[in-house]
Amino acid sequence: MSDKYDVVVIGAGPGGYVAAIRAAQLGLKTACVEKWISKEGKPVLGGTCLNVGCIPSKALLEASHKYHEAKHDFADLGIEAKDVKMDVKKMVARKDKIVTQLTGGIAMLFKANGVTAYEGTGKLQAGKKVEVTSHDGKTQTIEAENVIIASGSVPVEIPSAPLTEGVIVDSTGALEITETPKRMGVIGGGVIGLELGSVWKRLGSEVTVFEAMDSFLAAVDQQIAKDVKKSMTKQGLEIELGARVTSTEIKGKEVEVTYTDSKGEHKKTFDKLVVCVGRKPYTQGVLADDSGVSLDERGFIFVDDQCRTEAPGVYAIGDVVRGPMLAHKASEEGIMVADIIAGHKPEMNYDAIPNVIYTFPEVAWVGKTEEELKASGTPYKSGVFPFSAIGRAMANNCTEGMVKILAHEETDRVLGMHIFGQNAGEMIHNGVIALEFASSAEDLALTCFAHPTLSEAVHEAALAVDGHAIHMA
Ligand code: FAD
Repeated sequence: MSDKYDVVVIGAGPGGYVAAIRAAQLGLKTACVEKWISKEGKPVLGGTCLNVGCIPSKALLEASHKYHEAKHDFADLGIEAKDVKMDVKKMVARKDKIVTQLTGGIAMLFKANGVTAYEGTGKLQAGKKVEVTSHDGKTQTIEAENVIIASGSVPVEIPSAPLTEGVIVDSTGALEITETPKRMGVIGGGVIGLELGSVWKRLGSEVTVFEAMDSFLAAVDQQIAKDVKKSMTKQGLEIELGARVTSTEIKGKEVEVTYTDSKGEHKKTFDKLVVCVGRKPYTQGVLADDSGVSLDERGFIFVDDQCRTEAPGVYAIGDVVRGPMLAHKASEEGIMVADIIAGHKPEMNYDAIPNVIYTFPEVAWVGKTEEELKASGTPYKSGVFPFSAIGRAMANNCTEGMVKILAHEETDRVLGMHIFGQNAGEMIHNGVIALEFASSAEDLALTCFAHPTLSEAVHEAALAVDGHAIHMA
């Protein structure tokens, strides 16, 4: 087989593997280079998302939620569940099984679609050549008409809390814990910190979350964020805002954390400390000096709106470029770029990318927050409807939260949807489609929603935009 391709993709995360499959489906001769090695030393596809991100974290969130629900909430439903126990090792083994199943599935999809997989590290050189160094150190060069870089991101490390085997871990280490720690500290009150903190809190750890910013979930609509904070605190997560971790000291199997806040300096001791302060683009070893691709001031590969780098025929997608670090954003960019290469004219709507925090209840949003609309001087109106007035939420024993819709004051066009509640991550697609189709709030209000469902809160919030919710006095 010749080593010249129409498309070579570097990285097989949700950006790269989706781009490769789409390109092959469009009739392009496609290869994908991936360097990831599993704990067992086997090459694996799927990147951060499938191996140490979205999927394993959701497996632990689901298991810990079910355990917590059985232990604390089943009695409300008349179910007696005495002596409910969690086998943490089994929970982690189940998570590993799901990961193996899904990553193996991608290898099968590659085969079925005719994508050639190269195991090793890819480095882009001048002239769209990719040097592949396999795991045994052998190198070969493959040529391409087009190259897509999808090398992803890695966790940010901080000098005040250097990773220390078994005690101070990053998000990847937190997914491998096999015994519930008595006391867990989490540095970073963002999406990943709250999700991982929730898992271990539900399993019985005392969890403290240190967030350096004074506001909680600053990117979230603050009316929603206020409710989320109340709920997380009620669940027992101790959330320290404006708390900056300045140093850590390992003392045997424990770690002492020193942090400062507006009241001064404090110390707290934990059995495990999880560092979740964000992720940074990964470009180490990906670009030869003469590749023609440049980085921006924050280390992301510099691209235009359609993911073109400065080197002709070279694209970059996913976490390694600007925009939210989300699996579905990476995949959509992969599809867009494959379509461009095949001669189509796709565009991606960056204003309609949903965000979800998979706590319980979930937090989900798309489009603008009220704070953003105020800051930009956009005239808007808002409709809010609480789940406490939704029959299905009562039947489900979860009436926390609300749906909030923001629409343009004059045109009525939906500008944002914000949901805090059970299954918010599923319901938010009402908002994604509304934004994508440029719907008005009235369009949503005139749509027939099934009863009894949680999505009726979206319908009612849309009605409330003009002050006419049905089930609200
Ligand atoms: P990655 O998934 O990071 O994949 C990049 C791939 O490139 C890797 O496999 C890497 O080995 C490979 N690579 C790098 N350099 C080379 C090279 N030179 N040669 C060959 N291969 C190379 N996002 C969501 O949307 N929803 C979630 O619920 C969610 N949960 C998360 C939970 C956690 C704990 C974490 C850490 C992340 C989570 N994310 C979530 C974020 C999501 O995982 C990323 O946004 C997504 O994986 C980015 O996809 P990507 O393809 O750009 O990069």
